[in-house]
Amino acid sequence: MRERVKRFLKNMFYQDRVPSSIIFFGLEGIGKRELAFEFSKTLLCLEHTYPPCGHCVSCRHMEEFVKVEEEELYFYGEDKRGKKVFLYLRGGHPDFVYVKPEKGEIKIDQIRGVKDFVYLSPALSKRKVVFIEPAEAMNPYAQNSMLKVLEEPPQDTHFIMVSNNLEKVLPTIRSRSFLLAVPPLTKEELKSLTGIEDPLLLELSGGSKSMALKLKEDKELMQTARSILEEDMLTLYKKALEVEKWSLDRQVLLLKVLYAVIHNRYLELREEGLKEVLDMLSAGIEYLNKGIRLSLLLFQLKGGIKDVLHKGTLSGYQQGSSG
Ligand SMILES: [Zn+2]
Repeated sequence: MRERVKRFLKNMFYQDRVPSSIIFFGLEGIGKRELAFEFSKTLLCLEHTYPPCGHCVSCRHMEEFVKVEEEELYFYGEDKRGKKVFLYLRGGHPDFVYVKPEKGEIKIDQIRGVKDFVYLSPALSKRKVVFIEPAEAMNPYAQNSMLKVLEEPPQDTHFIMVSNNLEKVLPTIRSRSFLLAVPPLTKEELKSLTGIEDPLLLELSGGSKSMALKLKEDKELMQTARSILEEDMLTLYKKALEVEKWSLDRQVLLLKVLYAVIHNRYLELREEGLKEVLDMLSAGIEYLNKGIRLSLLLFQLKGGIKDVLHKGTLSGYQQGSSG
């Protein structure tokens, strides 16, 4: 799976068809950032290779970037009133900046700061890279400002964005970007990345490394997710009441696990019914703290999946054994 994406990027690179804006999107915890960062490194590599050579001056600066303490990379500018504002992370590479949210969002001043950067000529490499993660953290003002940059894409600059939730990125930005779907990790890939062998755990993590590691810590959550997907309505009813007593974070994590499993099934089966369940779940994840009853959500979910998924949904796993 991963290899297919890499092959695609490689062809794009060697055929010199790299778009000025690419959004790497997909589930949380499947390695999008690593792929996008490696590709950024390639765009800047002085040896012009994919994967990047790893030893040229450019590659060395990029490697340092990930090793240096983040606090040392903070780069500040001024807003319109002369107040100091955080713009992006900047290391030793003159042609690379990393825009990340401050207090939960990416603000317009940050995109303005990026504009100052992108219209300069590259200093070391042949191009420049602006890395934005996560793209959906740009607030509406920042997104509109970003759109203006993409409408007149500066020469030799690439915007490499990463998104866990593409639907929150403005359609106008999406339409000006190349959308690269990053597939979930396969069970084999997950196994080798985490050392986890438990088939149920691998299944429930839905191809997400971060999910797999969280589930490893929380076996009860894992069993609850399994019951919800596989057992009858009465069990679901009992479970739902228990789950409503959990902390909000843990409830959200449960919904994310369910999302990941159903998302994987959707990729296989392409059933419209499952798409609706996914939309409902992502709304649930967003509004859970605003008064949505989790039990009602779970009932709806069960109704939505019952025709498509049934017992034995979690393939490769026998009920009753704990792996
Ligand atoms: Zn290099």
